[in-house]
Amino acid sequence: MAKKKIIILGAGLAGLSTAWHLQRKGYDCQIFEKESETGGLCRSKKINGFTFDYDGHLLHFKHNYTLQLIKDLLGENIIRHRRSAWIYSFGRFSHYPFQANLYGLPKSIVKDCLLEFIKTNRNGCKIKESTSFRYWIDKTFGKGIANHFMIPYNTKFWTVPLADLTCEWIDGFIPIPTLSQILEGTIKESRQNLGYNASFWYPERGINEVSRVFTKEIKNIYPRCCVNEINLNKKEIRLNGKQKEKFDFLISTIPLPEMLYLLRKLPRNIAISFKNLRWNSIFNLNLGIEKKLNHCRHWVYFPEKDFCFFRVGFPSNFSSLLAPADKSSIYVEISYSGGKPIDKNNIVLRIKEDLKKAGIITPDDQVCLEDTNDIKYAYPIYDHNYRQSREKILKFLIQNNIIPCGRYGSWRYMSMEDVILDGKNIAKGMLNKL
Ligand SMILES: Cc1cc2nc3c(=O)[nH]c(=O)nc-3n(C[C@H](O)[C@H](O)[C@H](O)COP(=O)(O)OP(=O)(O)OC[C@H]3O[C@@H](n4cnc5c(N)ncnc54)[C@H](O)[C@@H]3O)c2cc1C
Repeated sequence: MAKKKIIILGAGLAGLSTAWHLQRKGYDCQIFEKESETGGLCRSKKINGFTFDYDGHLLHFKHNYTLQLIKDLLGENIIRHRRSAWIYSFGRFSHYPFQANLYGLPKSIVKDCLLEFIKTNRNGCKIKESTSFRYWIDKTFGKGIANHFMIPYNTKFWTVPLADLTCEWIDGFIPIPTLSQILEGTIKESRQNLGYNASFWYPERGINEVSRVFTKEIKNIYPRCCVNEINLNKKEIRLNGKQKEKFDFLISTIPLPEMLYLLRKLPRNIAISFKNLRWNSIFNLNLGIEKKLNHCRHWVYFPEKDFCFFRVGFPSNFSSLLAPADKSSIYVEISYSGGKPIDKNNIVLRIKEDLKKAGIITPDDQVCLEDTNDIKYAYPIYDHNYRQSREKILKFLIQNNIIPCGRYGSWRYMSMEDVILDGKNIAKGMLNKL
């Protein structure tokens, strides 16, 4: 039987992992990547002695396989940190997660959070995945924690009313403390290790190292090759508007909404499903500062409306190699979408004002570097159309030998570990088809 031809679209971590796992088993594939370098979102920029990721990227491992794989590939060049995550609200910093660290907040807020939590949990409530996220928050934490953190923070982050979201994506992302843990975090400053990100791993020289070590071991990666068209009848793709390539199987990590424009003559119901997909985008400002930081924080969440950003992180606290010895670095993240746009002409000025308001930088601090990234597809929005639309699209693609892969190709809230495993599983599944 003739060999089947496998093409992978996109050399982000999902495409790289798929190719790496296929090639290790002795199967050929080609990867076409539109950018001049591999890595997708798992990339870093080096500017004037600073290293910034395409927005803060930290490694969390649930599976020994992935941890061991990354350790084998990276060698000693990876550090494990205990999270130092904070929340800035009511004019003060408190430990993350809010719900388990009420200590130090104004007394009226603490009382409200505790009483409402106790009241809610006494009533008890079974929650389905299709339940609205807004309802889930109220029923899980009570109205105090909901109003003082969960609702403002998540509304800022997701950019849509929380009643529009389902709970399908939550799966361990939001820590749910017991009453005893909440009480412990109320009477003293506690450092309870709650949540999936209680500790994290980070390569000394930036997240790009993960993509680099995969790339080094993979054959047939073609950068600067943008896929502009996929012809399902001819099983053919067009690259850079010219070159054509035939395929038997296409593994696509390209953001799902983009496929609407690459696939021609789609059935009407599939085109409608594509148009139902929603996402938020992230505007990211990176700053280099002419002094060392006087704290060891890794990142801080900002739930309040007064601050335009939802999170601020400190890369030079992930690794000292990310900034020159006498300097430090900060990244800032703002979420936006069609329904909640930002004014990109003035946003950098506003961010810097808000950073001063929170005391993250002072008026005397010298900013020696400013750099921005605008990430169009950041988080797929799990609204009430999400499941049905996604399922229809994926079924249609698979029927046409297109295998969706990765966070954006398969349109799921996935971490870097998740996409590495997705690539592994897809490579394994392909072996049965070849
Ligand atoms: C703001 C933000 C912060 C995050 N932080 C973390 C974190 O701390 N920890 C964590 O584990 N995960 C984090 N993630 C998730 C993580 O980035 C993703 O899970 C992972 O990088 C996705 O990899 P991917 O290969 O699926 O997609 P991508 O990295 O987007 O790769 C897709 C590739 O396809 C290419 N491509 C697109 N269109 C075309 C085309 N037409 N032709 C050819 N190539 C094309 C792109 O250039 C890109 O290289 C974060 C995500 C965001 C948005």
